[in-house]
Amino acid sequence: MDNKISLTQLKELVTEAHEQFKGNTDGANADYIPYLANINKDLFAISICLMDGEVINIGDTNYAFGIESVSKVHTAILALRQYGADKLLELIGADATGLPFNSIMAILLESDHPSTPLVNSGAISACSMIMPIGDSDAKWKAIVDNIAELCGSETPLIGELYKSESATNFNNKSIAWLLKNYNRIYDDPDLALDLYTRQCSLGVTSEQLAITAATIANDGYNPVSKKQVFKASLSPKITSLISTVGFYEHSGDWLYSSGIPAKSGVGGGVLGVLPGQFGIAAFAPPLDGAGNSVKAQLAIKYIMNKLNLNVFGGNRIIIED
Ligand code: GLN
Repeated sequence: MDNKISLTQLKELVTEAHEQFKGNTDGANADYIPYLANINKDLFAISICLMDGEVINIGDTNYAFGIESVSKVHTAILALRQYGADKLLELIGADATGLPFNSIMAILLESDHPSTPLVNSGAISACSMIMPIGDSDAKWKAIVDNIAELCGSETPLIGELYKSESATNFNNKSIAWLLKNYNRIYDDPDLALDLYTRQCSLGVTSEQLAITAATIANDGYNPVSKKQVFKASLSPKITSLISTVGFYEHSGDWLYSSGIPAKSGVGGGVLGVLPGQFGIAAFAPPLDGAGNSVKAQLAIKYIMNKLNLNVFGGNRIIIED
């Protein structure tokens, strides 16, 4: 069923979602990365990017926060661009873990592969795959160039976050070397880990994440920069990965209650992809126990429910003015 709505009404709905949840004080900033613990917990932004490139921005949408695990989506896309869908499945996998994002247990349980590029193990493995193998500078350039293409603009490194995270990423070091033990790291483990840590430390706005989400929803064509960033056939692949594991051990509950495949990061960002319709992003630092932003989840769910949209349903929105 078509659900007709004007751009003005959609803006009002996003404003309403922002008003509704801005006073919510549930959750807590990530504190295992010292930089994140000190971010203003009241920051709150919601952005939607439509298929024609129109962007709706409400709240602190100019604030650049740590992209963290949302960057796993971007680099999974780069690995897909460089290797294709079959090779990614073979070298990393596409299974949900049902376990926390930094789980070592998940690697032990599925020792034949890291399982998905959207948890820490698979994301470090994806960084190791990025070509050219062995050349840290060129790999980094490929990673940031790809992120900029998806976001439609550059995402500068937050130096303090990179320092903070590099000084405390002992669990991720163990993951990188455990993957080496299982022959699931395809470059030097420390080099791959450093690239992963650096990509997590890029600063991004909710608008940039909404543009990334819209590019995925729009078959790889960035509706703002008007560039085909990746092949259309890769879009369902990345959206399926986001669906199965985007919220880690809460992915099923999330998809069931929100109806939109979405990926979170401990910086407080979330991006959601509604294929063929829009990309949505929200940002608010306080997280639930699985590391997913509380207010971002509330806002996105609210908007999806009000619009009566669901990736598993037949409803579509038609924007008319
Ligand atoms: N850089 C963070 C980590 O590896 C990202 C985790 C996340 O956002 N869920 O722990």
